[in-house]
Amino acid sequence: MTFETLGLHPAILKALTEAGYSTPTPVQQQAVPAVLDNQDLLVSSKTGSGKTAAFMLPALQRFATLPDTEKNTKTQNQERQAARARGGAFRFKAATPKMLILTPTRELALQITSATAQYAKYLSHIRTVAILGGMPYPKQMQLLAKNPDILVATPGRLIDHLHSGKIDLSALQTLVLDEADRMLDMGFIDDIETIVKATPDTRQTLLFSATLDGVVGKMAERITRSPQIIRIASVTSKHENIMQTLHFVDDLAHKNRILDHLLRDVALNQALVFTATKRDADSVADWLNIAGFSAAALHGDMHQGARNRTLENLRRGRVKILVATDVAARGIDIPSITHVFNYDLPKFPEDYVHRIGRTGRAGKNGMAVSLVNHAENKNVKRIERFIKQVIPINIIEGFEPKNAIEEIQKKRKFHKPGSGKKRHQSPSSQRHFMTNQGPAERRSNPSRHKRSDTRSQSQSSHRRAQAA
Ligand code: ADP
Ligand code: MG
Repeated sequence: MTFETLGLHPAILKALTEAGYSTPTPVQQQAVPAVLDNQDLLVSSKTGSGKTAAFMLPALQRFATLPDTEKNTKTQNQERQAARARGGAFRFKAATPKMLILTPTRELALQITSATAQYAKYLSHIRTVAILGGMPYPKQMQLLAKNPDILVATPGRLIDHLHSGKIDLSALQTLVLDEADRMLDMGFIDDIETIVKATPDTRQTLLFSATLDGVVGKMAERITRSPQIIRIASVTSKHENIMQTLHFVDDLAHKNRILDHLLRDVALNQALVFTATKRDADSVADWLNIAGFSAAALHGDMHQGARNRTLENLRRGRVKILVATDVAARGIDIPSITHVFNYDLPKFPEDYVHRIGRTGRAGKNGMAVSLVNHAENKNVKRIERFIKQVIPINIIEGFEPKNAIEEIQKKRKFHKPGSGKKRHQSPSSQRHFMTNQGPAERRSNPSRHKRSDTRSQSQSSHRRAQAA
């Protein structure tokens, strides 16, 4: 299937070719026709599967074929001039968007806005703006004065403008809830309900979420009408293009040494390092800078301007390593990120999946490394149960954990090698070790540092470990 067969407007096709999109992803193949058919949708598919274009392309298609009389052609400035010409008084009119996309975070909203600009590059008269918390009020008024067709917003800030009458949703045709599960996690449920109530019942509703169960499913039932359900692959699906490994560390110093070593991998282009706290994000970024890396921190305590600048610097390659907390990193889509590090494990197993999904974007390969204290074995197990996969342990010569490998094996109920069938029975039986060369060897032959993840290699290193 191609984008042509989806029947998209030539101006959209041109923009897609320019963006390097040749074939629609599975979620796009299913969602685009359904959206054009005016269906409500409930979609779950893994991160990086192209959900933005799945709802944006058909929406743009509709705008592209809309008669001019139905477009939000007049900006407030033009209205003001027209009023003056009539000799009448001008009053600020509420913005009347036709499409609203609600997202949990500001970063995600900006990402959607810029993806939209990219897809709509050759379509004229379609205005998209993002209304976000943390943005100065005059700037928001200026944006709303454009009377945008498409509004991308975080729920809290949108509510403020609804209450003050600056935004009127009575002409809304399409409502998109992106990362709905996350918005509910963040406590936006009441805001979402209020926003939905302000929209006409005739609207089309498209809901995207990692899961469609539980609270999300209940809300979906209330706000959609006989929706088509699209489940591409659950969030627990195996991220096959992302190589996951685990390093055991003895203490903080050991953890930092390993991180420093791995960040010097020649295969690393840009990396995202996740910490548990804002303070750790700052302090890890600081010592990485001292160690000679170009690193920056990103977390919820930073002003929006600083957050945007940091992401822009990462996107442009001026920052190589971003050290972030979960809240700030959600939804980041930067294809040049080759490595994700869990400096601290996430609190919830779902977040592990979201974190590692920051690499391996758009079908590229990625590397996800977790640095884990021996005491955190339980958390590792919870993650492994959730992803239904065992994360291979990696040991680098010169950086071995002090805890004897046999100890780790015993704790992790490692099965005897050789019983090939058993390896597939339970997660813990699939455990295998990988050993990489130490720093000296790597310097002499960097290409050998490539992953040693083939079965035979891991089995033999495992045997070596058993014999040790
Ligand atoms: P999701 O919302 O599912 O996590 P995104 O919409 O952010 O995914 O898309 C992930 C990445 O894939 C982006 O870099 C986007 O530009 C790219 N992408 C989306 N659709 C296609 C496609 N059909 N072909 C190539 N790249 C695509
Ligand atoms: Mg998305």
